Amino acid sequence: MLDIRIEKTTAPKAKPTDESKLGFGQIFTDHMALIDWNSDEGWHDARIVPFGNFSMHPAATCLHYGSEIFEGLKAYRRADGVVQLFRPEENARRMINSAERLCLPQLPEEDFLNIVKTLVRLDEDWVPHSFGTSLYIRPFMFGNDETLGVHAVHNAVFAVICGPVGSYYKEGINPVGIMIEDKDVRAVRGGTGYAKCGGNYAASNRAGERAEKQGYSQVLWLDGVERKYIEEVGAMNVMFKIGGVVVTPALTGSILPGVTRKSCIEVLKQAGYPVEERLLSVDELERAMDEGTLEEAWGCGTAAVVSPIGKLAYKDKTFVVNNGEIGPVTQMLYDTLTGIQWGRIEDKFGWTTPV
Ligand SMILES: *Cc1c(COP(=O)(O)O)cnc(C)c1O
Repeated sequence: MLDIRIEKTTAPKAKPTDESKLGFGQIFTDHMALIDWNSDEGWHDARIVPFGNFSMHPAATCLHYGSEIFEGLKAYRRADGVVQLFRPEENARRMINSAERLCLPQLPEEDFLNIVKTLVRLDEDWVPHSFGTSLYIRPFMFGNDETLGVHAVHNAVFAVICGPVGSYYKEGINPVGIMIEDKDVRAVRGGTGYAKCGGNYAASNRAGERAEKQGYSQVLWLDGVERKYIEEVGAMNVMFKIGGVVVTPALTGSILPGVTRKSCIEVLKQAGYPVEERLLSVDELERAMDEGTLEEAWGCGTAAVVSPIGKLAYKDKTFVVNNGEIGPVTQMLYDTLTGIQWGRIEDKFGWTTPV
């Protein structure tokens, strides 16, 4: 395992005092983590340094050819003060898979976990205290060759930044409106859909903006080949309860394998709900809406945990789901996952790790 050199800041910043006003991704802690990689030496010079700007060559690979991947996880403060992570090894492994897809170097799981924990421990006072608030952790990696030549990456940087974020649901859980996108696609099988890379987001922006202009909060993506099968919603995976069965799209290669998705499936199975991971066509969903068998729909991801869907638009039709209210299964998943993450209920799955 790599040794980590620590250089502490001599000018600590003032921490936010009002936790009810924390937003997302605007405030950063005093330190950041960095590890360099090149094809001769491999991973080296793991270090935690004062948070600050990067200096980079204008020809750096990531700025031209999109060789960038990232992760997102949170540190939660329990009522007893202990700070814990939720399934961080899942993020470490997914980053290895993303790196493999984009021909970036693979950081060993133990180095990922060690540097994330070391950084969170050093900036532990930045982890907010109220339920729903957390420290958002953003590991990322980019190609850093100083040439415009197109080839596999010979220089890369792994970095971790983090900052306190507010509760996603300040005014209670409000079901959102989602537009089913039938023009743009996010990813295709064989492409980078299963990798957490910046490029997937760049490809998503146009449809996202169109949906927002029409008053919807995110788009529901269809598959990139036939525009027929449901994939995921914005930056979340998606689940539907149809006629008593929870259905979620199978991981076919164009869908991001979410940690929250995986955790929801395990919680549901343990609670005795039938869960099906399979292809779900938009026609089947439309039929369920017409026939009234669509009981609940929700998105799931680290940021919101679960986000109930109250309204679905497809072509010129709109459907209201569960009277626009959060359903009992969605609520159960929210209560169980947030209960485990913030240490309010016993973690029977062994998903949490104190830092
Ligand atoms: C990160 C992400 C998700 C959710 O993954 P979690 O591990 O649950 O946070 C879903 N879809 C996309 C496109 C994502 O980038």
